[in-house]
Amino acid sequence: MIIVMNKTATEEQIELVVSRIKDKGLEASISKGTEKTVIGAVGDERLLDPKLLDNLPGVEQAMHIVKPYKIVAREWHPKDTVLDIKGHLIGGKHIQIVSGPCSVETPEQMKKSAKAVKAAGVKLMRGGAFKPRTSPYTFQGVGFDGLEMFRKAADNEGLPIVTELLDVRHLDKFLEHKVDVIQIGTRSMQNFELLREVGTLKIPVILKRGMSATISEWLMAAEYIASGGNHNIIFCERGIRTFETYYRNVLDVTAIPVLKKETHLPVIIDPSHAGGKAWMVAALSRAGIAAGADGLLVEMHPNPCEAWCDADQAITPTELKDLMKDLTAIAKILGRNISN
Ligand code: PEP
Ligand code: MN
Repeated sequence: MIIVMNKTATEEQIELVVSRIKDKGLEASISKGTEKTVIGAVGDERLLDPKLLDNLPGVEQAMHIVKPYKIVAREWHPKDTVLDIKGHLIGGKHIQIVSGPCSVETPEQMKKSAKAVKAAGVKLMRGGAFKPRTSPYTFQGVGFDGLEMFRKAADNEGLPIVTELLDVRHLDKFLEHKVDVIQIGTRSMQNFELLREVGTLKIPVILKRGMSATISEWLMAAEYIASGGNHNIIFCERGIRTFETYYRNVLDVTAIPVLKKETHLPVIIDPSHAGGKAWMVAALSRAGIAAGADGLLVEMHPNPCEAWCDADQAITPTELKDLMKDLTAIAKILGRNISN
């Protein structure tokens, strides 16, 4: 941490800052310039709160120089992390697509969806049994029966399953159904108790970006999971809120290179919840992969017009197949492989 003193700071004021730094077990290195004195706090600076130093007399500003997130930071782990989800790799050169319906509905719908996912060459399947809906009066998901339906349909096609965990109280059932990847939705990104709980597991977690979260808040949310021992985290940019009302959210493509710079963990995008319309999905998906994303979480329904949730944004099985062709070509240009 760097503490910049005011021009008029006295020796006593400098000494007070130094003693506060030493009290926390850090070393203080004083650099006296012609204009100002700058004090460097050397050691584990997470122990020091810049706000407490900011308030001391003679201090102009105290700021961290080391990132507040550690385990997820590339600074501490320069190489890309490659995660293995039931034999399917994501990260580094490996791109994975996750597809399936917004929500689990019926055994028949899940069977058709699983077949379509497999036929498109996609290796991982999504589907929500519990849905976080804006209105309490709309469909909330089929619940635990959905996990059963999902598991069965996906097992028939040999697909690992990705599903959203809304509530820590559901975790036992998720483990019972051997959920392969836990999704933490945009509304739960800062549900710290939920994050801590999935942090105690070894199961990979897709951490969606809060719809109004900054990059730093998102990285800190991931750090909650990682600090519990679970480093199997995939970031998912799913669109953020802006003043624009034409589309559901704005896909923040800029976040992809930024996240790739800040973290060694895989970063994927969700083009479905970003645009909110099926016709935008292919364009946003291509942009995401071209910008360096490690994969997609994309909604597909065997019969989109009849979907119980997010019908407008679901692509058809044929559209998923076509999209896979485009993405394979883009991946090749970038020297990466897709869906291995
Ligand atoms: C979903 O993936 O179906 C979902 C609810 O996503 P989000 O949390 O991004 O809204
Ligand atoms: Mn959805």
